[in-house]
Amino acid sequence: MSDPVLALSDITKTYNKGAPNAVDVLRGITLDVTAGEVVALVAPSGAGKSTLLHIAGLLDTPDTGTVALSGQNLTGQSDRRRTLARRADVGFIYQFHHLLPEFSALENIVLPQLSAGVSKTDAEARATALLDQVGVAHRADHRPAELSGGEQQRVAFCRALANAPKLLLADEPTGNLDPTTSDQVFGALMTLVRDTGLSALIATHNLELANRMDRIVRLDAGRLSTGPA
Ligand code: ADP
Repeated sequence: MSDPVLALSDITKTYNKGAPNAVDVLRGITLDVTAGEVVALVAPSGAGKSTLLHIAGLLDTPDTGTVALSGQNLTGQSDRRRTLARRADVGFIYQFHHLLPEFSALENIVLPQLSAGVSKTDAEARATALLDQVGVAHRADHRPAELSGGEQQRVAFCRALANAPKLLLADEPTGNLDPTTSDQVFGALMTLVRDTGLSALIATHNLELANRMDRIVRLDAGRLSTGPA
């Protein structure tokens, strides 16, 4: 069997360690996300979802435990090595789109590809294809402020996938949208993820959305549990 795309092993994290206001956010998290698997991370606010996603995406380091991407243990590696692995393998989506306001939808998806050394022609072709897949190709030349909230998130999904990561990490990707739009935009995200065979760890409060993923893990009091919604 191939290595999991993401393997978290016995991860712990305490903020303000040793201080009276220390917070044990993660108390031993072990989780594998296998190739093509989409896992829902369900947790109450403040439970440590963002901390866990940042550690999984190599934006933060755990106090103890290991993080491996596609079998490569990146714990204790240099910042440069971790940055390269993150750029190559991980796509992020947040609750807010964080698109660059002065660039068009297409340019927002082209720019990360240019940074990765892709030619302008190839980058534009890929960006157009991605926009088409999520149904916003007709908005390619629009700036973020000219797009609806749902369209902005769809563009943000395309940007996250621009450099063909192996793992998608999403923090409440539709949490900022009304229920109907959230449902449609989540559908577009799932289609994109399934079409590309991507693995994903997607944090959500929404149990209906969680139930549309392959598996649910719950984060509570610093530990993960599995089971039905
Ligand atoms: P969630 O994403 O589930 O809302 P977070 O991972 O953002 O939770 O935060 C989990 C807990 O850790 C919260 O109690 C938060 O206040 C605390 N926390 C997060 N980041 C820091 C930090 N940099 N320093 C101190 N405490 C933090």
